[in-house]
Amino acid sequence: MSEQRCRYCQKYFQPSKFQPRQAACVQPECQRQRRNDYRRTKLASDAEYRDVCRDSSRKWRATHPDYWKDYREKNPSAIEHNRTQQKRRDQKRKLCDLANNTSALDLKHSAANVWLVGPGAALLANNNSAPGQVWVIEALLPDAAPVAPSCKQHLTGSGAETGA
Ligand SMILES: [Zn+2]
Repeated sequence: MSEQRCRYCQKYFQPSKFQPRQAACVQPECQRQRRNDYRRTKLASDAEYRDVCRDSSRKWRATHPDYWKDYREKNPSAIEHNRTQQKRRDQKRKLCDLANNTSALDLKHSAANVWLVGPGAALLANNNSAPGQVWVIEALLPDAAPVAPSCKQHLTGSGAETGA
């Protein structure tokens, strides 16, 4: 039988003679992904399967009422991790809302460099952990009326001019 390429790890493997259309190799990680994909597709397409899963989860929660409470007590770092992830999701949603709001323009393809100046800049530049995933730059409103240069601003003989 001919070898098949694993859909997940891209390595070649020999499919089982009972499963000639086998798309994933036998590595546990590939099998885990295959099961997850199957479950996701099935949940999206099969209403009965969805109901059975929902009932099963409900029954499990009813028989294990303290599972998540115990889990959080035993894994305090998980709480912090969840909080961080939630903050990230909130921030992403906020930015998506902003992007959908036509008054905000997406400038991420701008070729301009962004320079941070000021007394804190040196510290920040040397700190690799400084979060800088998102820059929100507020546009300045154009001046109501352009100010005509006054003749008083011409400082002749001050040394500021060149080539005069
Ligand atoms: Zn594989």
